[in-house]
Amino acid sequence: DAPALAVPKARAGLKDAATVPVLVPLPVDTSYSYAVPEGMHVEPGSIVRVPVGPREVAGVVWDGSGGPVNPKKLRPITGVFDCPPLDSSMRRFVDWVADYTLTPPGLVARMALRAPTAFDPEPFVDGIRLTEARPARLTPTRSKVIETAARFPDWTRNGLARAAGVSVSVVDGLVAQGVFEAVRLPPQPIVPAPDHGHARASLSDAQMEAAQALAARVRDLSFSATLLEGVTGSGKTEVYFEAVAAALEKGRQVLILLPEIALTQSFIDRFHARFGAPPAEWHSDISPKRREAIWRQVMEGRVRVVAGARSALFLPFSELGLVVVDEEHDPAFKQEDRAFYHARDMAVVRAQIAGCAAILASATPSVESRVNAAHGRYEHVRLDARFREAPMPDLSLVDMRQNPPARGRFISPVLQAAIAETIGRGEQALLFLNRRGYAPLTLCRVCGHRFQCANCSTWLVDHRLRGSLQCHHCGFSIRRPEACLECGALDHLVPCGPGVERIAEETLSVFPDARTILLSSDLVGGARRLRHELDAVADGRADIVIGTQLVAKGHHFPKMTLVGAIDADLGLGNGDPRAAERTFQLLHQVTGRAGRTGLPSRGLIQTYSPEHPVMQAIASGDVARFYDREIEQRRHAGLPPFGRLAALIVSADTRIDAETHARALRIAAPQDGDVEVLGPAEAPLAVLRGRHRFRLLFQAPRRAPMQDYLRQLIANAPPARGSVHVQIDIDPQSF
Ligand code: ADP
Ligand code: ZN
Repeated sequence: DAPALAVPKARAGLKDAATVPVLVPLPVDTSYSYAVPEGMHVEPGSIVRVPVGPREVAGVVWDGSGGPVNPKKLRPITGVFDCPPLDSSMRRFVDWVADYTLTPPGLVARMALRAPTAFDPEPFVDGIRLTEARPARLTPTRSKVIETAARFPDWTRNGLARAAGVSVSVVDGLVAQGVFEAVRLPPQPIVPAPDHGHARASLSDAQMEAAQALAARVRDLSFSATLLEGVTGSGKTEVYFEAVAAALEKGRQVLILLPEIALTQSFIDRFHARFGAPPAEWHSDISPKRREAIWRQVMEGRVRVVAGARSALFLPFSELGLVVVDEEHDPAFKQEDRAFYHARDMAVVRAQIAGCAAILASATPSVESRVNAAHGRYEHVRLDARFREAPMPDLSLVDMRQNPPARGRFISPVLQAAIAETIGRGEQALLFLNRRGYAPLTLCRVCGHRFQCANCSTWLVDHRLRGSLQCHHCGFSIRRPEACLECGALDHLVPCGPGVERIAEETLSVFPDARTILLSSDLVGGARRLRHELDAVADGRADIVIGTQLVAKGHHFPKMTLVGAIDADLGLGNGDPRAAERTFQLLHQVTGRAGRTGLPSRGLIQTYSPEHPVMQAIASGDVARFYDREIEQRRHAGLPPFGRLAALIVSADTRIDAETHARALRIAAPQDGDVEVLGPAEAPLAVLRGRHRFRLLFQAPRRAPMQDYLRQLIANAPPARGSVHVQIDIDPQSF
């Protein structure tokens, strides 16, 4: 469907050469013109090798016209990769993301081209095919090989030897005699094709109704966005699988975005059970070689379903029929590294450009999606009851002022008693604390010294399992000292406050006979180990589970009947306008792990501010009231989604450089009745990785052209020099 390329002639230089614009995966604002050597065929989307300075990179032939041609400097494309072109919807998506997030298009293209920068233009494997020739001497093993080979046209040497039960040397002998000829085989599919009719789920009436509504949108083969809001344990996954089936039946590809995909083995298993094949997984734990293969097979349409982390959005689907964003409220979908974008929002844009359905699923949708649904921008499909009528957990607040734990402890007597009862019945308890490590702060009792990161304005977190004090922002770490580094006093360092490791220690001392599992991203062994531990919990091989927000997400633990939130107030105190929403979502999700198979269950929420609206909403289970109140407050304050926000983060090696440039940006900010400029002020992390940071915030009504405003501001401002760097964050998630 790519339009024919109008190929302008270069004015001089490479005589008679045509030129095309090529976008290279570098921080550049436009595509550059390159000459097309005679006899080479390229079209928009072709992935080509081009020289940039002294090296060569993989770029994409882009639309429009390239940057200005300097005929003297015009250089030729040096190669075309042997793969289908990046289709026009993908190119439009790259342009759209670049334009919206004010990221150089080259950097966005780099996300779309991540794989092929390394990829081999000859992805074929060496194969062999039977010829008419027969060997001079036919031994039993040789005839076995020939018989076996006749079953399929093409083989690899090893594959044929294995199938015939002979050693490779037998096959090689026949190749040498001309019984087989060499052929090039396409690479093996990365995953077998899922079958939409493999094992249809038997859905409840409510689930069926929701599934049909979603599948109907998919069959429309046009853009739609639907919020699938269902209480925890209502079977959202089973329901959107029917939409996946509808897309597959229509011959379309499917993208499913999940937070923490590396940990969700159970999701992969469920998918496999439903469709008879697993989806292709895409996340940072997948080897580069496999990613390369997936990228290519997605492009060729040979991979039909990808389940991936946010970066899977930039995979080159050419027949997209559905994008699902599961746990759409999850902060992990916001990328704040190089390109800043929110994968949930961009997923909807991707679907819009591709002309297909988008489904956003959650038990606790983002306020944005709730409002979009209320205003009819998204359709709203609900599941109000748990599958098989499993009752929701009985939730109550534990007022920590009335129920103080013993000195140096963090589990209240009420929670402790509930744990004892639960494990006494042979059921499981989950203790949730959203803080990694042992203690967030280490203090010297003699001189008052607090251990701080050398590169960031943060405390070092005590990690006892690793024997170190660590910065959670830059990775700086020191061995846990025995003496104060400031005054030298020995054995006077005290941990302040709890992390999950400390809760695990307390649990072990109170319940020494219980099987206790600690789940945190710090576990030695990484994602693989975590998957393992999560399996152990699901199989009932643990009594007490202690975990960070990792355990709040989507897991299904059949025997879990008690959830205790240790420090429920943790996220509330930081002045962030999304703090209430975040805390509500986290507590609702984590307590939603309890009682999913119908056993009576409880959630106990330890708080020092039981009167806080979030705590009240959690305890009452009144989700609707929480959203109504939160939405009203956002509307009143002109905060998203009723207003728009953007941030400019100015960083530099010295405080004075960062502050000076931030002030210059402020002065360059155009006067505009709509846009309110706040700051500059020190960023919440005033020093990060040794860089001093200042921040400007911009707030405007929903309809204001924020991007144009910022472009004008940047154009008016003096250029960033030396170590100064300006990062633009459209729709910042926290501030
Ligand atoms: P949610 O994502 O809404 O919290 P899940 O999709 O994880 O819920 O479903 C919760 C549990 O109920 C899962 O173990 C799932 O397999 C099971 N379940 C849901 N619906 C059905 C169904 N129709 N048939 C069989 N099991 C189901
Ligand atoms: Zn640090």
